[in-house]
Amino acid sequence: MRVSENILISSLTTMRLGGPARYVIEIEKPEEIPDAYEFAKTYHLPTYVLGAGANTIGHDEGFNGVIIINRIKGITDIDEYTVKAMGGENWDDVVEHVVNKNLTGIEALSKIPGLVAAAPVQNIGAYGQEVADVLTEIEVYDTKTNAFCTLSRADLKFAYRKSILNSTEKNRYFIISITMRLKEGQMPGPYYTSIEKYIADHHIADLGPKSIREIVSTIRASKLPDPKEKASSGSFFKNIYLNQTEAEKAIAKGYPVFHGKDGYKINSGWFIEQAGFAGKLLHGMRVCDTAALVLINESATSYEDLAKARNEIINKIYDKYGYWLEQEPNEIINTPIGKQS
Ligand SMILES: Cc1cc2nc3c(=O)[nH]c(=O)nc-3n(C[C@H](O)[C@H](O)[C@H](O)COP(=O)(O)OP(=O)(O)OC[C@H]3O[C@@H](n4cnc5c(N)ncnc54)[C@H](O)[C@@H]3O)c2cc1C
Repeated sequence: MRVSENILISSLTTMRLGGPARYVIEIEKPEEIPDAYEFAKTYHLPTYVLGAGANTIGHDEGFNGVIIINRIKGITDIDEYTVKAMGGENWDDVVEHVVNKNLTGIEALSKIPGLVAAAPVQNIGAYGQEVADVLTEIEVYDTKTNAFCTLSRADLKFAYRKSILNSTEKNRYFIISITMRLKEGQMPGPYYTSIEKYIADHHIADLGPKSIREIVSTIRASKLPDPKEKASSGSFFKNIYLNQTEAEKAIAKGYPVFHGKDGYKINSGWFIEQAGFAGKLLHGMRVCDTAALVLINESATSYEDLAKARNEIINKIYDKYGYWLEQEPNEIINTPIGKQS
């Protein structure tokens, strides 16, 4: 295990904000995990588990604690359809591996930035697929019992951008690996409007995993900021999910409500656009003009700048439309010893 001191959180996260973390420990083998937690205990410091920081934001004062990062590598074909990936692998490399085997299940999740271990935490999803659709189990270290164990898909209680890992059991488990069961064939339609349009415009007949991966990669590159070039956390706000009565009310008001396999939803970006925020610069944060859910850190110098921009958007959407937007990215917050942010 590699221990470093005083590492800027801005250098570990794609939003590029946040002061120094007192310690960063990088795990290269599962047997090092208990030592990392023991290290934090010895110094009476809280811990925060980080991946590539594509869905995590740091605060200006930094973190008086230990950030632990999974750097364990490896992708293994358990059988023809089952793939196990270690948590330190880059997520998109695993998608590529699966697509090269001509298996379907995660091709629409191409190019989502981040490490494998984070994928089940918020149940990553895009263009009609979610990791929950294919995940069978994860290997974890349980910090409550100090033991290694396996959690099944049922244990994780997946929902939209949610699992026990970011709700009831937040910060309890260090994820070591994930196992997924894929299928032969192709992703069933109907596809998201942008994919359907791309297929029609380019007269594409092959809708196999490789083709969908290419289409999704092209669409994403045209809309979403590349974290290497522009600082962001991807979608900054979650979409709005409604029950049937709420959906009927929203439809009556003329809001675009979609009815998908996961229920009724409104794309929060629609409200942000309607409220006139798309393309605007707020306190150094640019509201992306091609994907209004995305806030780009163009010239923000502090977490405070980001918070002001976020609150301005949330308050205006509430005042105009009556919906509270919920922030998607996690934050690394200093907490009392023994607790985690
Ligand atoms: C440009 C851009 C586009 C994006 N597009 C999408 C998209 O289409 N769909 C989508 O769902 N997301 C999207 N995201 C968000 C992000 O890519 C995903 O949430 C991704 O899974 C984050 O991976 P990470 O390794 O960077 O996680 P981090 O931000 O480092 O961590 C995320 C969460 O996982 C936890 N975690 C990380 N590693 C472990 C571990 N080993 N054990 C336990 N907990 C752990 C952290 O504590 C934190 O709560 C996008 C982000 C960006 C910047």
